[in-house]
Amino acid sequence: MRARLFALGASFAILTSSGLALGLQGSPAAERARSDAAADPSAKAKAGKESSKQPRGRPARDGSQPTLSIGSPTRGRLSGAHELESRDALLLRKPARAPFGLPELVGMLSRAAERVRGRYPGSVLLVGDLSSKQGGPIAGHRSHESGRDADVGFYFVDRRGKVQKTDRFLSVLENGRAKDRPELAFDERRNWALVQAWLTDPKTRVQHIFVSKALRSRLLAYARAGGVYVPVLHRAALALKQPSRGLSHDDHFHVRIACPPGQRDVCQAEPQPSRRKQRVRRAKPERIAQLRESGASAAAGDVARTESLALVKTR
Ligand SMILES: [Zn+2]
Repeated sequence: MRARLFALGASFAILTSSGLALGLQGSPAAERARSDAAADPSAKAKAGKESSKQPRGRPARDGSQPTLSIGSPTRGRLSGAHELESRDALLLRKPARAPFGLPELVGMLSRAAERVRGRYPGSVLLVGDLSSKQGGPIAGHRSHESGRDADVGFYFVDRRGKVQKTDRFLSVLENGRAKDRPELAFDERRNWALVQAWLTDPKTRVQHIFVSKALRSRLLAYARAGGVYVPVLHRAALALKQPSRGLSHDDHFHVRIACPPGQRDVCQAEPQPSRRKQRVRRAKPERIAQLRESGASAAAGDVARTESLALVKTR
């Protein structure tokens, strides 16, 4: 009887096309079916067509467009953006020219600001640029193109440790004091609470948080001394970093969230080398020689420099 039921179940799985993968999951036949699909471009195309009918990501507020982060943070677009708005716990820096992002980012920033304010009354999180409504390049940024990046100011306290608000980003010196307002100090307690809120957000995964080396050390030392749960400390040590190029980020955090699950076919996690660099990277030795001969010194210099690098660094 059991054998008959099993046989019935198996034939049901084979007969129903949607149940095929499910019914044969893990079996050698399933492996074959998967590899066949991978090898057959028409099957892949069909699957692509089917999935393109289904809007991926969450619907935008007006319900007209699916929410998608397309491409990379340095060469990307945004569809169905959500807008971040000021409230008690959060202030958008003026002029708010790029307050748009994925709902995952907008939600995470709002939740974290509320969490810190709930614990430390009077806290207001200062937020700078996210992305423009459609994504794409915005002045003053190399990234922020695909709705996954946000610039966020630090929390400060005065000499008596009292919560202070600012409406602009302030550079912090090695001694923890604001460069232009020495009466203000980087508040490790609340800045750590903010980082922790981001890293433990229930709905959004952080990819990394750019901040200067000195402030990273300060935050990690504070967390370690406070006996923070070790996995969170490890996660923070990995996520917090000073970018190898560009701004040191001593006046704000730059937080980038990961591609939301379900968008990984359109969302590119990390920036790729620019097209110019890719072209240079693909250049053949004959082309390099040709460039050198033609006296195109700048281009040949670029080629030579790039050739000497094992890996073109990305930003
Ligand atoms: Zn930024």
